[in-house]
Amino acid sequence: MPSVITHPAVALGLAPYFRKSGVGPRALALGALCTAIPDLDTIGFRFGIPYGHPLGHRGLTHSIAFALVLAGVLAAVWQHSAAMPAFPRPLFAYLFLCCVSHGVLDAFTNGGLGVAFFAPFSNERFFFPWHPIAVAPLSVARFFNGRAWPVLSSELKWVVVPSALLGLAGIGLARARA
Ligand SMILES: [Zn+2]
Repeated sequence: MPSVITHPAVALGLAPYFRKSGVGPRALALGALCTAIPDLDTIGFRFGIPYGHPLGHRGLTHSIAFALVLAGVLAAVWQHSAAMPAFPRPLFAYLFLCCVSHGVLDAFTNGGLGVAFFAPFSNERFFFPWHPIAVAPLSVARFFNGRAWPVLSSELKWVVVPSALLGLAGIGLARARA
């Protein structure tokens, strides 16, 4: 994975494209959470679930299906709590993109197993052909034991800067249309 502090950059980068559709600061915070939730599967290591298991790391929670379900449930809860007459489709799309971006970024990393994009239908693990992002160690101790800078500098270059450019382009587009 890119580290947990980097994934949420994507939520910021995507937000300007959904701002007119009602995605404000609270939805942005939820989107940031959606970018980090897939790595909750690392808890499985404590329970003896192997990395390559469908419920293992980069398995089901990194899949397209999981992102659809998570975004659907959160958007439905949002609709209910805000007493909205219609299902908030832009919010659903935003949260889906935030969540699915996690697996996409993981598939650009240079370590671990690939991502089970098509779980639960297939546990085949995928990487993209190009791996510019240095993989973050799963242990926090190892992360701060000499691995932090190489990982963070590659994430800055390949995740944070592109996300910032995406966000700035979105802001520019919104201003041009206004
Ligand atoms: Zn991950």
